[in-house]
Amino acid sequence: MRITTHGDSLIQLTRWPWLFPVNVYLVREEDGFTLIDTGVWGGAKSILAAARAHGGEIVRIALTHADSDHVLGLDALRAQLPDAEVLMTSRSARRLAGDRSLDPDERGGRVKRLGGGNVQQTTPTGLLRHGDRVGSLEVIASPGHSPDHIAFLDRRDGTLIAGDAFQTRGGMAVSGVIRPTFPFPALATWHKPFALASAGRLRALDPARLAVGHGDVLDNPLAAMDAAIAEASRGSTTELAGHAG
Ligand SMILES: [Zn+2]
Repeated sequence: MRITTHGDSLIQLTRWPWLFPVNVYLVREEDGFTLIDTGVWGGAKSILAAARAHGGEIVRIALTHADSDHVLGLDALRAQLPDAEVLMTSRSARRLAGDRSLDPDERGGRVKRLGGGNVQQTTPTGLLRHGDRVGSLEVIASPGHSPDHIAFLDRRDGTLIAGDAFQTRGGMAVSGVIRPTFPFPALATWHKPFALASAGRLRALDPARLAVGHGDVLDNPLAAMDAAIAEASRGSTTELAGHAG
């Protein structure tokens, strides 16, 4: 696992950095670490070791969304961290319990069912909503990649942990815009217009640093976010024109 630190509070842990990078994040707080996302299977030991090597224990786990590459480590971590808080949206909890269905107001995206292979036995100790705080992090609703997607803004230094709302691997992109060398987040995207709207809302937070589920951390990301949003907007116009034709 590749480990990189960014500023005073953020540590990125990357499984398979060259092949199919999957990131989780340790966010330093006074009482220990918040772990954002849990990665794929088999990573729990390395994640726990990384936290200890950086001087703390994981005291809470929070999820950006319930796609398998973000949640498959949850049960294994929970077994080792019985006292940690486990935080997610109610929508993510429903997915982790095995419900892949879309609500009536969630139809109209490009998928008929949400991704599977993500069921976990662990249930949340607390549910997150837009505007909640998780330590220093503020919860930002950002549906689009998936209906349950949230991001986390560190109010201390402007770090935005954006999950899969953006990717940086293969070239910066809004969720839903295909990067040929790493197309997977786009292929898994539930609703492109919502993803574009959420990308704009995340950009409007003026983050000083962008940390995503797949790809490297980017400092001073605003210009790159603007370019990615502009590209996604052009794509959606083209698609609309295509439908009209
Ligand atoms: Zn992902």
